[in-house]
Amino acid sequence: MLDRRQILAALGTTALATLAPTALPAATSIKPDDASALLVIDVQNCFLPGGSLAVKEGEQVVPVINRIAKAFSNVVMTQDWHTPGHVSFASVHSGKKPFETIDLPYGKQVLWPDHCVQGTDGAALSKDLSIPHAELIIRKGFHKDVDSYSAFLEADGKTSTGLAGYLKGRKIKRVFVAGLATDFCVAWTALDARKAGFEVHVVEDACRGIDTQGSLAKAWADMAKAGVKRIQSSDIAVSA
Ligand SMILES: [Zn+2]
Repeated sequence: MLDRRQILAALGTTALATLAPTALPAATSIKPDDASALLVIDVQNCFLPGGSLAVKEGEQVVPVINRIAKAFSNVVMTQDWHTPGHVSFASVHSGKKPFETIDLPYGKQVLWPDHCVQGTDGAALSKDLSIPHAELIIRKGFHKDVDSYSAFLEADGKTSTGLAGYLKGRKIKRVFVAGLATDFCVAWTALDARKAGFEVHVVEDACRGIDTQGSLAKAWADMAKAGVKRIQSSDIAVSA
């Protein structure tokens, strides 16, 4: 039996936790383990200020990603990696402008300015990323007639990049997704990670979106429905 003093002490703890959750960060922190991997999506020059498809505030994800990456023993980075004249470029469809959509054999495709052409400076990862322990860089979108927002599956919904097999081979169960852009490559990667059976967290402040035609709100709604957890970088325990 608890005596009166123990009950009051317990109530006091509860009240403190309710009123001042920020005073107890350790209780809610997520500690990535050996079965966790950080996926750093498309932090490439074309998507950063001055790039051909610059994401607003895209550069702000870099210090956040550098900081949380220290908490992960497993980090995978991706690179959008298109052929010249790639099907996702508005420039190859006569009369079409960037951000218009067209119907392709695999479904609707948003058209983009030319970006991330294989081997160009624009396709290079940002030199400000500081994640020397990243163990794999996966390139995607390298088939000329198919786009690939997702790091797992091309936009035809069936051609694998091999990433799920790699992660499963490494006994990874949880993935944390960060990078560019929230409403395209990050969201599609997170949704496919769920389909492949991973527990998925998207680190919101380590991402920025493009937000064309309501795409950002739709992406968050689709991710919530699929069971993707939306977290902040401050939720991840990073030792100093
Ligand atoms: Zn692309």
